[in-house]
Amino acid sequence: MKYLDEYRDERIARALATEIVQHTTRPWVLMEICGGQTHTIMRYGIDELLPREIELVHGPGCPVCVTPLETVDKAIELSLDPDVILVSYGDMLRVPGSRSDLFRAKAQGADVRIAYSSTEAVKIARSNPGRKVVFLAIGFETTAPANAMAAWQARREGLTNFSFLVSHVLVPPAIRALMVSHTNRVQGFIAPGHVCTVMGCKEYESLVRDFCVPIVVGGFEPVDILEAVLMLIRQLEAGEARLENQYVRSVSYQGNVPAQQIMAEVFEIADQKWRGIGPIPQSGLRLREEYAAFDADRVFDLGGFTVDEPAECISAQVLQGLKKPTDCPAFGMRCTPENPLGAPMVSTEGACAAYYHYRRHAVAK
Ligand code: SF4
Repeated sequence: MKYLDEYRDERIARALATEIVQHTTRPWVLMEICGGQTHTIMRYGIDELLPREIELVHGPGCPVCVTPLETVDKAIELSLDPDVILVSYGDMLRVPGSRSDLFRAKAQGADVRIAYSSTEAVKIARSNPGRKVVFLAIGFETTAPANAMAAWQARREGLTNFSFLVSHVLVPPAIRALMVSHTNRVQGFIAPGHVCTVMGCKEYESLVRDFCVPIVVGGFEPVDILEAVLMLIRQLEAGEARLENQYVRSVSYQGNVPAQQIMAEVFEIADQKWRGIGPIPQSGLRLREEYAAFDADRVFDLGGFTVDEPAECISAQVLQGLKKPTDCPAFGMRCTPENPLGAPMVSTEGACAAYYHYRRHAVAK
């Protein structure tokens, strides 16, 4: 299979679904980690193709959704400083902070700009030497190398008006936290293919070994997801727990070593708070001491932000696979993409947004 169309081929998808039915003899709960995979599942109705014994639950792999409320509040506060240009990915503008969001701050006159990469933010800093440019650097291992490269470049150029508000998170510690939780129901994981393109499969071996849980690195097209489910079911039904790679067209065992090297040069692993979920040990990245001059938290002395999630939002349970978005009383009523209460309704990778776009009818049931 070389071309995208083949990964959306209905005939191949139905053949895989039939094979899954043939191999399934009892109930299994599987989690796809990445929000991009969740959107594929909802968009193509993959969960409806599976036997009723298989439940797909949705994981915490939506970078916008897990960016802490405090970080959003800090970004809003920074954006209101007339000396600051706050640069962010577009998704982050609608993410609700505790009292406002960046979109509203922009409407109030804050200089908030959308960028598609951190390199664009570096360019904005170069062109505005009299302003302080802050890039809201969020995401998983997928975006960290590009942000590390931007920090490296800014340091090399001696830019003194550029910094990062960092909220980088790592997938393997999140899986570990899910597995040690007494509420965990997940018996097999579809690991995120794009993260593994950077980090390789190797990081997941210890999880398989420590928890005796099968993990299949999966892609993002319907055939990818179905094949990954089949690989998990084969293992589970056989009583096995192995690491397998379905996404071989992009993911190797070692991953992208130069990308890992630049990440390691600029960032170090640190404890990290995940929005809705709480702190997870050693699950984030922060700038190394050599890059302290590019760390907005230190440059602007941003401390003392502690805020609570809106009580109505059950995103913590959604992100841990304990509830579905349609279990939330606010879903599609008080919480919509136009008026989101929680981040999973905003992001293009959010589970609540996926259900809203593709499965709203489920609420009526
Ligand atoms: S529907 Fe809205 S309020 Fe409910 S969990 Fe999702 S984001 Fe939170």
